[in-house]
Amino acid sequence: MTTTAPPDTHAGLRDAAAEYAARVDVDVDLGAVTWEVSTRAKRRSGACLFDRKTESVTIRLTWAAYREYGWTEFRDVIRHELVHAWEFQQFGESGHGRRFREKAREVDAPRHCRTFTDARLRLVCTNGDCEWTARRHRASKAVTEPGDRRCGACRSRYAVEHVDSGERWQTSDGYEAARERIEEW
Ligand SMILES: [Zn+2]
Ligand SMILES: [Zn+2]
Repeated sequence: MTTTAPPDTHAGLRDAAAEYAARVDVDVDLGAVTWEVSTRAKRRSGACLFDRKTESVTIRLTWAAYREYGWTEFRDVIRHELVHAWEFQQFGESGHGRRFREKAREVDAPRHCRTFTDARLRLVCTNGDCEWTARRHRASKAVTEPGDRRCGACRSRYAVEHVDSGERWQTSDGYEAARERIEEW
């Protein structure tokens, strides 16, 4: 590939990932790796699956995570999944233990499967004419005490939404109450 433009289609992402993987210095049989793009995964940036019978590996890349990180950062995810592929091919199993950690260090891959912030929390402006929204992954003050803060664009109040449950709140009391109702934070 002579172009340096970041991929903007699923097929483009698969191709770019496969091509990038060939340049990573890790002993993976890429001929036995299938690349997929997922539009459904909500939290995981990528996944590596192993079929014991055929010993084939599937690396599934999450489209939304790619869109959020951009190509340069998303390559971290690819290296992480390649370490899983390496473990599966060499040992028939994979986790995030010492062996994984050491190999991940060798290829400068993040140790943890990265989750992307799309999932958990969203700040949404209460002004119907304003489209401002922001994502939050943790219960920072912007999430627990939204009453003290304002929309980043029009300075109206904003609501915090817990994406999975749809619970919303605009005050710290509201946060506490929602937190009790939400079974899976
Ligand atoms: Zn992982
Ligand atoms: Zn606003």
